[in-house]
Amino acid sequence: MDVVYTRDDIEDGVTEKIEAKRDLGEGRWDRVLKQKMVELSVADNYEDAKKEWKATGNVWWSSRYNVTDPYGRNENAPDWVTNSTNGCNQCLCGHNIVYHFEIENTENGNVECVGSDHITSYLILREISESTGVDMNAITERMIQDWINVRVKSMIQDAWWAENGEEFEEMFDEVKEADLRINVRYHPTKHYWDSTLRQHKRVRYLRKRAEGSGPARRREMASIVWRWNHPENTRNQQTTRGYPNERLWLDMNRFSSLIEEHLEDIEKKDMTKQQRIEWLENFDAEFDAKMEAQGMVETRFTTNCKRFGIPLFSWQDAPTAWDKSFLKKMYYAIRDSGDEPKLGKSDIDRLEKTLDMMSNLATKEQKDKISSYRSQLVEARRTDYVPRFPYQMKPGMTSDEAEQQISILRDILDSVRAMQERRLEMEIESRQLTDGGE
Ligand SMILES: [Zn+2]
Repeated sequence: MDVVYTRDDIEDGVTEKIEAKRDLGEGRWDRVLKQKMVELSVADNYEDAKKEWKATGNVWWSSRYNVTDPYGRNENAPDWVTNSTNGCNQCLCGHNIVYHFEIENTENGNVECVGSDHITSYLILREISESTGVDMNAITERMIQDWINVRVKSMIQDAWWAENGEEFEEMFDEVKEADLRINVRYHPTKHYWDSTLRQHKRVRYLRKRAEGSGPARRREMASIVWRWNHPENTRNQQTTRGYPNERLWLDMNRFSSLIEEHLEDIEKKDMTKQQRIEWLENFDAEFDAKMEAQGMVETRFTTNCKRFGIPLFSWQDAPTAWDKSFLKKMYYAIRDSGDEPKLGKSDIDRLEKTLDMMSNLATKEQKDKISSYRSQLVEARRTDYVPRFPYQMKPGMTSDEAEQQISILRDILDSVRAMQERRLEMEIESRQLTDGGE
């Protein structure tokens, strides 16, 4: 019977197959062990002596996580290992071992430890029979193997936690919130309606497997929480393994080393959200003011416009027949909507664009141009004198106002560039003079 190890166990260095021998034979180590067991028993021959011993079920693994000092001592080792005849990392027979199984003489109370080669099925049979009440003859090979498998797994877990437990808990606490925000993926087409932000948002999922390749793969890792203990993940590692696999542990360390960057990203996202909320507050105030100014009464259409963050409009005002028919369609869709709009994301995008155009508001291209000129001026101000320039982009700026601002900014930028050029020429000239003087 083979013990089935997962890929991760193998990566973690677990390559050994542990099977219980039926009994001890005439090999060198077997003979040494028989002799030692007799010495520590009441009976004076092995056949009687072996019946005095049984496995207790206690196990300990001195893995690479549990480094033993040159004198064979290990501070993580339990007393029954430390106090056994040969101490840590040796079987009672003197053989080097990593898997320690506790055995006990039930006649005189002696406690010893043997390795995986010497945990014979007899020792296990007696333990299973006494702890479960099943007759020794009814115990199958399968039950013995299961007994070993359970303990091997627990040995690996205990060793891992002894070494990394504290660090793991600390790191997991540090990264879990950010992981749920950063290690996500967005559905390429699906959106849902966010009634707080009054916007369509892309459907978001936790990233369940790593994406990309090379360095990108390291950034686009699968969610740490998903892998470790997400309740919806029936195969989460906390349940299936009891300790994180090599890949997860590595990813946690990576994610934690970039935590400042991740928190900054999250802050940016939160800020965008906050800006939208403020924009909506402004929108509501303007909306109410317009209703009052025009003496309009609340209807299903006006209520829904406000609820969806869409400015009031009248489809009769559309400049072309094409726009008119589109706006008319949108009018009915808004009017007939419930809590969520009957309009898709592309409908709302097109509607906003059409309304901007009709109201002669600044276009996106104009606003982008203004931002670009302004950031160039801010940059230039670090090295050169820059006159005062308009800094505010007021909400509801019209297309004409935007055009005016663009021309002011362009003039200032031109003069700054000209000044920079003159300064550069002067620098080159003075360098040439200095060189010539030597
Ligand atoms: Zn041994």
